[in-house]
Amino acid sequence: ENSRETLNIVVVGHVDHGKSTLIGRLLFDTDSLPEGAIDKVKQLAKEKGKAFEYAYLLDAFEEEQEQGITIDTTQLQFSTEKRDYVIIDAPGHKEFLKNMISGAANAEAAFLLVDANEGIQEQSRRHGYILSLLGIKKVYVIVNKMDLVDYSEDRLNQIKTDFNEFLNNLNIYPIDYIPISAYFGENIVKKSKKMPWNRSGSIIEIMDTIPKDKDLEKKPLRFPIQDVYKFDDRRIIAGRIESGTLNVGDEILISPSNKTTKIKSIAYWSDKDQRNEASAGMSVGIIVEDEFFNKRGEIISHIEDAPIKSNIFNANVFWMGKTNLVKNKKYKLKLSTKEVECEVITINKIIDASTLAQGDFAEGIKKNDVAEVTIRTKEMICFDEFANLQTTGRFVIVDGFDVSGGGIISGIEDSLKNRE
Ligand code: GDP
Repeated sequence: ENSRETLNIVVVGHVDHGKSTLIGRLLFDTDSLPEGAIDKVKQLAKEKGKAFEYAYLLDAFEEEQEQGITIDTTQLQFSTEKRDYVIIDAPGHKEFLKNMISGAANAEAAFLLVDANEGIQEQSRRHGYILSLLGIKKVYVIVNKMDLVDYSEDRLNQIKTDFNEFLNNLNIYPIDYIPISAYFGENIVKKSKKMPWNRSGSIIEIMDTIPKDKDLEKKPLRFPIQDVYKFDDRRIIAGRIESGTLNVGDEILISPSNKTTKIKSIAYWSDKDQRNEASAGMSVGIIVEDEFFNKRGEIISHIEDAPIKSNIFNANVFWMGKTNLVKNKKYKLKLSTKEVECEVITINKIIDASTLAQGDFAEGIKKNDVAEVTIRTKEMICFDEFANLQTTGRFVIVDGFDVSGGGIISGIEDSLKNRE
């Protein structure tokens, strides 16, 4: 088993500020590219009569993805001597939001990229807002294209002042501002000689100092049921453990149907034999002592650490739908493996995520707005407050067939908790 530590970092920023170039660089400079990739891309560039760009490395991966060769190119891996990294790339604004809010990303730290020459742009601010919404505290601002501003310390400081003014309002206090030139490879692996004034290290040096979050295994158990398979006369409950740890013999609660039983056995795909314990991040099948007709969407927990059960909750929603999110319209809500009809019953506040200006209630929640709302689901569901447990504290909203928004659960009035 791999005992090396892995850290997930999301890279965000305004289009063209250099995300792909930076990621291509990181992969190249740490020797993490597939064999022959760089030659292939250089050859392709030549054929098209273009100068080689590190950003093409990612585009090349995208083509592979279209052909179904790779599974998920929005997650790229590389290693330093210290540990492994998963870089979560957000090619477009919409994909970024989807990844982030649906939790596909699961980022522990964020690189917010800014073009040194252009400075802070609308999407830089909006991405900052989303990071604050998601409670990502380990934010590093990467000031790219320093070559275009003569590697000027003054320019870096100016960007720092501008951006801090916005970010501090959102309770984001960037841990560092890191000046680089992704294109020329300055301050990526080694400290740049072009910026002797820079007291913090290179990107890679700084990355290796980012502290890892507390392990999900130590948090309360959340095992959302994905499917129930019938084998002979046994039923196997399958799913992914989102947090916590499961042991054979544990007494468990299945919510919201409110049944209790004991775990008889646990199966994990790569084991020949059954195992006694499984923990966060593993997809497992379990067999329980009593026969239940458990349904997809229920959540298994320990009895003393159950999720909240309710059909009404407060949330911060980010909207990216073509038509405005309005009150009393039926949408589909997806929370872990559960899908349920929902509606917004109150809108408490609407904010434009890039200007922080307050929106007008009459029009509903527009694309790129963030809103504080109260949501009611058609039936009782189980969830957590996002601040306590992220994976069961977030949801997406589907309008027709489109994932049109996402949100995090901020809380619930006590009187509405755990009613029958
Ligand atoms: P993305 O849209 O954020 O992924 O940006 P790209 O990585 O595709 O870069 C956009 C453009 O900026 C490309 O033409 C790059 O060559 C250029 N670029 C990226 N990094 C640098 C840099 O450090 N210096 C300069 N001068 N250009 C850069």
